[in-house]
Amino acid sequence: MAKHKLIAGNWKMNGSIAANDALVRAVIAGLAQSDCTVAVCVPAPYLAQLQMLRHGSALELGAQDVSQHEQGAFTGDVSASMLKEFGVRYAIVGHSERRQYHGESDAVVADKAKAALAHGITPIVCVGETLAEREAGKTEEVVKRQLAAMIHTNGHCISEIAVAYEPIWAIGTGRTATPEQAQQVHQVLRAQLQAATPHAQRVHILYGGSMNAANAASLLAQPDIDGGLIGGASLKAQDFLQIIGAAR
Ligand code: PGA
Repeated sequence: MAKHKLIAGNWKMNGSIAANDALVRAVIAGLAQSDCTVAVCVPAPYLAQLQMLRHGSALELGAQDVSQHEQGAFTGDVSASMLKEFGVRYAIVGHSERRQYHGESDAVVADKAKAALAHGITPIVCVGETLAEREAGKTEEVVKRQLAAMIHTNGHCISEIAVAYEPIWAIGTGRTATPEQAQQVHQVLRAQLQAATPHAQRVHILYGGSMNAANAASLLAQPDIDGGLIGGASLKAQDFLQIIGAAR
């Protein structure tokens, strides 16, 4: 598969003006030899800082959420058009932490992706099962249900999304899916996309969940793993750069 891999950092609720400055400068300095697309998804208050820091570099900017609404009386929400003003190219939608702590349903997540797409922002749609669901043999059923809502709402635009398979039991736990476990789910997701669009090969399907410098290469070598969504390891320039280096 000739398409470039996509490595996206998910900073979650971490950072400060001083820390971001040091981290991003170090990442940009190390990007020169990379041949994949690299993005950092940062907390909304830092978008302006990142827009300045990344200026003239290949680093792409992402948000961690986006409102499904265009504008108006939605206290605390940030719209896709606002993100666009800061040069945002990606927005994570439906991260398991938002599904869990903010009660985001499959339908809401699909509407958020639609709002992003309407403004030319690529939604990184997160799907993934809990440990209990995996142990009950329900992994495929869960991720297919999550992706089906996306396909239902976004129809012919579905090839414009990116997907991140993030098994919840692997997030922040140091427990990574094996390359075979991940590939198996990625293959299921690819097949589901293939049934919905002739352009399914174009869609980046990322793996996320304790991806690090040591395990990135074997995960990224799988045929349907087109990149990574990196939490903890994206907060250390050296670790993040090693993952980027593994994405050939
Ligand atoms: P992690 O997080 O790499 O720290 O496991 C990944 C994510 O939640 O996106």
